[in-house]
Amino acid sequence: MKIVKTENEKYCHECGEPINRKAEICLKCGVRQEIVYGRSTERQEQEKRWIVSLVLCWFLGVFGAHRFYTGHTAIGVVQLLTLGGCGIWVLIDFIILLTGSFKDADGVPIKY
Ligand SMILES: [Zn+2]
Repeated sequence: MKIVKTENEKYCHECGEPINRKAEICLKCGVRQEIVYGRSTERQEQEKRWIVSLVLCWFLGVFGAHRFYTGHTAIGVVQLLTLGGCGIWVLIDFIILLTGSFKDADGVPIKY
């Protein structure tokens, strides 16, 4: 049975256990909790990047648009010249994006 959190509690973002709202570290799994405000903006940015990348990949993928967007300029140019590897490369990129395994040029994952 899942323990229901009370008013003064929040769920640990790592293990999902209810912990004190002000707790910085989860007593259950020991993972540090992120600040709620900072987390939500960061999360929104992350989701936005993911959605934009997906849309670009789907509609303009053959022009390497999602690669330019995520900072892979060199690969973007190659995809532009090869029309996204005749569509196959773009399709693979799209699947990788969908599964959340795509990374931008700085190695930051682009996922939901
Ligand atoms: Zn935890």
